[in-house]
Amino acid sequence: MNQFLSERIINMETSATLAMAAKARELKQAGKDVIGLSLGEPDFNIPDFIKESAKKAIDENYSSYSPVDGYGDLKQAISRKFLRDNNLQYGTDQIVVSTGAKQSLANVAMVMINQGDEVILPAPYWVSYRDIVKLADGVPVEVPTSIDTDFKMTAAQLRAVITPKTKMLWFSSPCNPSGSVYSAEELENLAAVLREHPGIFVVSDEIYEHINFRGGHVSMAALPGMYERCITVNGVSKAYAMTGWRIGFIGAPAWIAKACTKFQGQITSGANAIAQRATITALDAPLSKIQFMIDKFHQRRDLILSLLGEIPGFKLNVPEGAFYVFPDISSFFGKTLHGHHIGNAADFAMYLLEVAGVATVTGEAFGNADCIRISYAASEDEIRQAVARIKAALT
Ligand code: PMP
Ligand code: GLU
Repeated sequence: MNQFLSERIINMETSATLAMAAKARELKQAGKDVIGLSLGEPDFNIPDFIKESAKKAIDENYSSYSPVDGYGDLKQAISRKFLRDNNLQYGTDQIVVSTGAKQSLANVAMVMINQGDEVILPAPYWVSYRDIVKLADGVPVEVPTSIDTDFKMTAAQLRAVITPKTKMLWFSSPCNPSGSVYSAEELENLAAVLREHPGIFVVSDEIYEHINFRGGHVSMAALPGMYERCITVNGVSKAYAMTGWRIGFIGAPAWIAKACTKFQGQITSGANAIAQRATITALDAPLSKIQFMIDKFHQRRDLILSLLGEIPGFKLNVPEGAFYVFPDISSFFGKTLHGHHIGNAADFAMYLLEVAGVATVTGEAFGNADCIRISYAASEDEIRQAVARIKAALT
């Protein structure tokens, strides 16, 4: 019956992160011993003080539709957060709360991109950018980077791909999947190129801002001349371990925020009321309340790097944020391991799943075919076991 489906959905890729997580879950249910390092999802429980405020919101009957763009007092809390953490002044008319940062991104694509508009995606990029852009009839323009430059796009690379059709640049720092963090100077170099092209807008996806081991997060919108053309995307999924509560938000020029609200009003009517109330509590809390998770991610980063470093053939950068490593495993291409031919990163990830019982994601999904992504948002025990199994499967 697929012939009756729209071309839109036929042409869309399934999210590789979610597909791999579903496959790992399926294998586990069938009794196979699988360690899931495919999904970028904190393994911590939501801190109790946030849970309590959600319970209170239920008792206080927050059960009706909220305003489409989010409760006013939540938007005030987001405004305070932007000022506290990012040195950005966004009024409440510049903020839109959505059902996860993923929806924030989809809103922006739908209100900003016209057919044929080019959107620059430094690769590796987060898996969903490409399909969200395509859904909006945009043309993703991938800018390949490699482990040798810590997976960062240079100003010269940016300049070289700009055309009269360029509408936007989308990137994340800290980056999913590479964990790379752009320094203030590197961002400034990109901004200098963009200043020569006032018609190009930037989606700065800062959802991993707090999971940053070098410290000193810099927002693109805070650089001179960038505020009016940046959409700053953030949310509570990662730093507050609230993935399933589905709250994301943007800070943007008011005219963009207004368009996103108009779009969202026809699509979701707004984000979940209870989760919005809990997000006020989360964002108003001192950052010291979530520091323990960031410290843990840091320790795990060091652990997984040292363990993977012992496996011949793995080429690693030192990710300075998020909770992923993105090793270049292209040295295995063309080899046959225990009867399995490894032709590409997808074969490699499938081999690890079948032979080592470890779920990872092929780098192809993120626009880099030499790498795989391993999420270390897992316990130290799981990390140790997983890497030991990977090592055994490869030697
Ligand atoms: N951007 C990036 C870079 C991500 O890794 C994620 C993780 N899912 C998202 C956006 C979307 O986050 P969410 O929809 O859970 O807020
Ligand atoms: N962002 C996470 C990841 O990259 C969650 C999965 C998703 O939303 O695609 O794994």
